[in-house]
Amino acid sequence: MKHQYITIKNVPLNNNCPECYSREGLQLTFKQLFKETKFFKSITNETTENLNCSVCSTEIFPVMWTEDIERVMNYQKKAFIPKPASFKFKKLAWILFLTIDVLIILTLLVVFDVIKI
Ligand SMILES: [Zn+2]
Repeated sequence: MKHQYITIKNVPLNNNCPECYSREGLQLTFKQLFKETKFFKSITNETTENLNCSVCSTEIFPVMWTEDIERVMNYQKKAFIPKPASFKFKKLAWILFLTIDVLIILTLLVVFDVIKI
């Protein structure tokens, strides 16, 4: 099974980076967990966000946030709309379901003596 966090939204922030004090580098990224197997594809409700500075290439963890960053983060988190959760069977699953259906019907036909083998 493939679990993958896919980037949904990137927001540049105008705050100073707590590491290098640059005003240009802070980038907030929202990601959402996607799951994929041979049989289905699904978008989950699970989201994650992280804050990175592209100037000093540092991930800015919540312990490093200033009050300003925290305020902006709270605002952005409220404004973020994740993709709706979904679940889709793939072709292989449908083929499997169909095959099982046909087998069940054939078995019933044999059991009830409709067809002779
Ligand atoms: Zn920085």
